[in-house]
Amino acid sequence: MTTTLFKDFQFEAAHHLPHVPAGHKCGRLHGHSFTVRLEITGEVDAYTGWVMDFAELKAAFKPTLDSLDHYYLNEIPGLENPTSEVLAQWIWNRMKVQLPLLTAVRVKETCTAGCVYRG
Ligand SMILES: [Zn+2]
Repeated sequence: MTTTLFKDFQFEAAHHLPHVPAGHKCGRLHGHSFTVRLEITGEVDAYTGWVMDFAELKAAFKPTLDSLDHYYLNEIPGLENPTSEVLAQWIWNRMKVQLPLLTAVRVKETCTAGCVYRG
């Protein structure tokens, strides 16, 4: 049996989007309470009954989460234009090596707006 599990993480960060048209509100420095959802897809182990321990997922993401929380995203290499799309791909590139079963990175920057990157 194959299932997809997910875990949500939250962090606060500031950013601005340097490539928006002049006067666009996202061009101004502002902050978001971001939510990142990592999705892991794999076979359910017959003995443990899970695909992966959520604690293992949490531990794997912690260094990346810590590198984002309460930072100015534009100053992080690779996030000079920190849209949700760019951020989702940046997270994917860091996490896929550690989490080969990673199948999606979802980034939400507001309650109603976000994106999903699937590699
Ligand atoms: Zn923003």
